[in-house]
Amino acid sequence: MKLILLGAPGAGKGTVAKLLTKIDGSVQISTGDILRGAVNAGTDLGKEAKAYMDAGDLVPDSLIMGIMEERLQEDDCKNGFLLDGFPRTIPQAEALDVLLDKIGAKLDFVVNLDVPRDVIYDRLTTRRTCENPECQAIYNVKSMPSKVEGICDKCGSKTVQRADETVEAISKRLDTYDEMTAPLADFYDKKGQLFTVVATSSDKVVEEVTKKLGIA
Ligand code: ADP
Ligand code: ZN
Repeated sequence: MKLILLGAPGAGKGTVAKLLTKIDGSVQISTGDILRGAVNAGTDLGKEAKAYMDAGDLVPDSLIMGIMEERLQEDDCKNGFLLDGFPRTIPQAEALDVLLDKIGAKLDFVVNLDVPRDVIYDRLTTRRTCENPECQAIYNVKSMPSKVEGICDKCGSKTVQRADETVEAISKRLDTYDEMTAPLADFYDKKGQLFTVVATSSDKVVEEVTKKLGIA
């Protein structure tokens, strides 16, 4: 499957993507994970991206498109991909159209995860992320705690609150989403590619997406 997952921070894009990869071996491509990996590894890309990310601002389109040009042409994308956190601006969406054309890939559709704002706010403030850049497993202190508090079940590293998950940075990210990314729903709707799902449970989303793909 070739899908874009669109939705506010905390809408569950990552969780849904992970569930979908298990179905047909499509790869999850999370620009957030790639960028955090680069920050932790201290690469030039990471150094350039860090200040934007910590402030809850978007990283410049040119950096993101550079990452995606390379990533989408790797071999593991041939079977399918789930774009999680990309595109995030109209210029990124337009550049993605050109890139998909160039590599001869065609999207199935764009999943728009619709989640009430109070649910999102609650999810983000209680989210914890494994600090190991190779792992980045996600937990929730209320709904999905790790077995040992503060320790990742999968790799034993520390789980931490992300720098951009303070109350101020969360408000900023949600504002940034409304301003820069929410218009993408309209962009894809006009092209007849939008599939909106009320995303209160990830399992429900997966069920609806697989039904729409005809593989349920
Ligand atoms: P979330 O969806 O939970 O906000 P992500 O992990 O997708 O978080 O992204 C974290 C941060 O990485 C964003 O706040 C932004 O600074 C940066 N980022 C990720 N993807 C993009 C993108 N496509 N364009 C610009 N910045 C991005
Ligand atoms: Zn881990």
